[in-house]
Amino acid sequence: MTSQASPPESADPERVQPPVRILRREPERIGFEWPDGRESSISARELRLSCPCARCVDEFTGAALLDPETVPEGLTQSNVELVGNYALSITFSDGHRTGIFTWAALRRLSGA
Ligand SMILES: [Zn+2]
Repeated sequence: MTSQASPPESADPERVQPPVRILRREPERIGFEWPDGRESSISARELRLSCPCARCVDEFTGAALLDPETVPEGLTQSNVELVGNYALSITFSDGHRTGIFTWAALRRLSGA
């Protein structure tokens, strides 16, 4: 239960296929159905806390710039847009929208 190991293909963003469905029934979560039949979901807050953008993570040192205490419980995703065929751009209810989440990152973060 505690293993966070990902399948080897998740390590290479180029080789992770896009989800066949993106589920947004619950505003506080995003769910995915992957081409290999796996399903996963993650809360908007967890995603927000893992945002890889330059405002949340120092581009050069990788240090976290985001204070988790500033991210409200019950945060929701207010918009989700495809970025090419490799990632999602997610707008959160706190107005943050600069994070780009690759399929590989979404699989890893949601535990698929
Ligand atoms: Zn960010």
